[in-house]
Amino acid sequence: MKTYDMIVIGFGKAGKTLAAKTAAQGKSVAMIEADATMYGGTCINIGCIPTKVLIHAAETGHDFKSAMAEREVVTSRLRAKNFAMLDNAATADVYNAKARFLADKVVEISSDNQTEKLTAEVIIINTGAVSNVLPIPGLTESKQVYDSTGIQTLKEQSKRLGIIGGGNIGLEFASLYAKLGSEVTVLTL
Ligand SMILES: Cc1cc2nc3c(=O)[nH]c(=O)nc-3n(C[C@H](O)[C@H](O)[C@H](O)COP(=O)(O)OP(=O)(O)OC[C@H]3O[C@@H](n4cnc5c(N)ncnc54)[C@H](O)[C@@H]3O)c2cc1C
Repeated sequence: MKTYDMIVIGFGKAGKTLAAKTAAQGKSVAMIEADATMYGGTCINIGCIPTKVLIHAAETGHDFKSAMAEREVVTSRLRAKNFAMLDNAATADVYNAKARFLADKVVEISSDNQTEKLTAEVIIINTGAVSNVLPIPGLTESKQVYDSTGIQTLKEQSKRLGIIGGGNIGLEFASLYAKLGSEVTVLTL
């Protein structure tokens, strides 16, 4: 079993900042991230930044494909920069693996059918959130339903788009697609 001063589960905003600062003090840190497309967390990969890149692109006259391409350029660059920030730190290890607790201070990480046990005095859980799939009949069977991540990586622009929920994220996508020329309907209670 490998021993670290700190284990951080999830490469999100608070976790990565804390991991980098702790490593800069010469302490050993394990950063565990389940998804290699998520180094840097939701904000830079599928949240705040890519949505604003898409909106800016739409507002400055880009069409759907070029806005999507711009999003990919920006997120790839930020993801690589975030990964390097920790990977290059002398006392930090980045694991692309899923973590689970085996005991109070023992974490098992698994990837590609390989498992390893890590332990640390301090373990930070920074696992973020997942989309809430509401029990709406037919929702999960439909191949035309996307969550906030799927809607950012469509290959073709939909001519018509229905958005369930008029919260900030729903309205952000509504205004984005409307700017890109889709006919958008927002459904709220
Ligand atoms: C579309 C969208 C737009 C947004 N726009 C804004 C905005 O404009 N402004 C704003 O302030 N906020 C915005 N947000 C919210 C913001 O992005 C999130 O609140 C924030 O990024 C969450 O950060 P976090 O560090 O808590 O988690 P995350 O950044 O989600 O990090 C959690 C990480 O943990 C990993 N993980 C989970 N379980 C495990 C496990 N068992 N083992 C290993 N790794 C695991 C996940 O893969 C993930 O990478 C937006 C969110 C979305 C979805």
